[in-house]
Amino acid sequence: MAQELASVCPLDCPDTCSLTVTVEDDRIQKVRGSHTNPLTEGVICNKVSRLYPDFVHGAGRLTTPLQRTGPKGAGEFKAISWDAALDLIHDRFQAIMDAHGREAIMPFNYAGPHGVLAGGSMDLRFFHRLGASLLSRRPLCGGIKSEAWQGTFGAVAAAQPDEIDDAKLIIVWGNNVSYSNLHLAPVIKTIKQNGGKLVVVDPKRIKIAEQADMHLAPRPGTDVVLAFALAAELERLGAFDQAFIDQAVEGAEGFMERARQFDLERAAEITGVAADMIARLARLYHESEPAVISTGNGLERNRNGGSGIRAIFALPALTGKFRQAAGGLVGGSGNLFPRTGKRLVRPDWVPEGTRTINIIDVGRHLADDDIDPPIRGLFIYNHNPLIVHPDQNRMRRGLAREDVFTVGADVVMTDSLAYCDVVLPAASHFEHDDLFCAYGQSYLQRAEPVIPAVGEALPNTEIFRRLAHRFGFNDPDFSATDFDLMDAALDADDPRLGGVRPSALPTDQAVPMSQGGGRIGIDTMPKTKSGRIEIHSAYLTKRFDSPWPEFTPLPEDEVAAEARPLALVTPSSDMRTNSTFGGLAASDVAPPLEMHPDDAAARGLRDGQRIKLFNALGEVHLDLAVTDGVAPGVVVTAKGAWMRTTTNGQTVSALAPTTKADLSDGACYNDTRVEVAAL
Ligand code: SF4
Repeated sequence: MAQELASVCPLDCPDTCSLTVTVEDDRIQKVRGSHTNPLTEGVICNKVSRLYPDFVHGAGRLTTPLQRTGPKGAGEFKAISWDAALDLIHDRFQAIMDAHGREAIMPFNYAGPHGVLAGGSMDLRFFHRLGASLLSRRPLCGGIKSEAWQGTFGAVAAAQPDEIDDAKLIIVWGNNVSYSNLHLAPVIKTIKQNGGKLVVVDPKRIKIAEQADMHLAPRPGTDVVLAFALAAELERLGAFDQAFIDQAVEGAEGFMERARQFDLERAAEITGVAADMIARLARLYHESEPAVISTGNGLERNRNGGSGIRAIFALPALTGKFRQAAGGLVGGSGNLFPRTGKRLVRPDWVPEGTRTINIIDVGRHLADDDIDPPIRGLFIYNHNPLIVHPDQNRMRRGLAREDVFTVGADVVMTDSLAYCDVVLPAASHFEHDDLFCAYGQSYLQRAEPVIPAVGEALPNTEIFRRLAHRFGFNDPDFSATDFDLMDAALDADDPRLGGVRPSALPTDQAVPMSQGGGRIGIDTMPKTKSGRIEIHSAYLTKRFDSPWPEFTPLPEDEVAAEARPLALVTPSSDMRTNSTFGGLAASDVAPPLEMHPDDAAARGLRDGQRIKLFNALGEVHLDLAVTDGVAPGVVVTAKGAWMRTTTNGQTVSALAPTTKADLSDGACYNDTRVEVAAL
């Protein structure tokens, strides 16, 4: 008999929807939105409702440990027992540490599941105790924006989506709401119904832009110039709130010295946005009270990414838009949750002096052996690096090395796991307990398993618990249950939890964390060194030698304009979350490449034609979609498709450089420059 059970979506998405799962005979039949979370309110995206049952029970599901029997990448494995797999991992890792030292081992994980336990708990305890190389993960995505926020405001929160209905203007800047922040869409609808305006800033005419009062399409990497020009124009209009600046802003004049260098005409030339559009937006922002800005992660993915976000953050500071509850900035909620990460992952166990490796550099370190000790033992989990990392071909060469012992754990067989020596079947989040702290809304949620583990799958926590015992780690923290881990993850004394332990939170309720949580401009001041909004940032000066937002043109724009003139942007797909679901039959389609009619005509290309998209790093074969929805000079295709969708084994990540952004040494996907020709 079918049962309806509560769960939570664990995917790398700011919304963290509450779910109702229909289960019959231990199988997931249907996944729908539930009303437990008042923000997500019964609505979820199509991909989760359509694809999750096949993801959990389909042909790609891993149900037993595997050992490689063929060449790396060939996907040839034999089934082995858990005991044999854990013994093999222990013996090989130990031999590597004996030969090369403990730092020759590295965890290689990212954000596949966002549950607190699956995402990083017992696993990190294990690697910290082992003394493995540390991995800096945030540069891959979100780190640039997080550092910009930390440097400008400190550990405080933005307005939450359910607090901005009264806004008279919302600017959606680099945020593909329809695919990546779905529940902002009804909020935008309410704002518009109340007479407010919508402005979208994005190189592509994304779906939400079709409802916008204005759409500005800056060239990728020039958002900082657009924000500088807006600031200069706002100053000219007399829009600055000097009392707020005097009270709460650090570095306003130094910022304006930079901003004034970009008058409307110069900004138009650099960004490709008409001068009168910039002037109109400045006037609209000035005249709209409250006015709020939503920034996505898209605009961070270039060498000026940190500066672009910081310059946008400066706009509500200079104009005092933070004074209104529905004004300022909307989104980031990470600082609302009372996390106790040190207790959860035990960083105090990391041996002093242990190196930290930037996740962007892993492909190079693997392929080129350019660090000492070299990486010789790798554990991939919650991650599909072959699909999502820049410079895919180098990553492939690195993963293909026979002298690197690689373990992989995942729910399904992925392109990256095909390169592993040992593959472990991980439980999906429907099969274990977990806690969920969202990064785009303010509700804390807990979920219990809704089905038993499929086959011999184990939760990440149990995989690393068993592995720790194989290594003889007897600290009681390695015997902690998943309930213990939940209680270690959050501060149970936080009054918003109402005296309930995190592990005992009801699964049919979402706990609101926004009240008293430290909302900037409303119930707290910035938590920076100066206690003010630091446009001139002490923190970013110290960490990245980046006191101010600055614009640095891409050098390759000048030197290689003739060879690779097109800027490639790779936003989210509505069929995948990053690469998750990419192996399913329903997602087994290569996305088209979208190109402006002028660029297509200049190359003699026509709609629907098979083309090659190439640069010095790689070549990808796609079908062409000619559309005026992208600006001239920009081409767009969705990220995250798996190898099976291509004819030459390369996807768009093959074209992305490994250059670093101005903050966080972050990834610069949108600095990819390409040429396109008929195939
Ligand atoms: S991917 Fe995002 S929008 Fe879709 S169900 Fe999950 S949290 Fe909700």
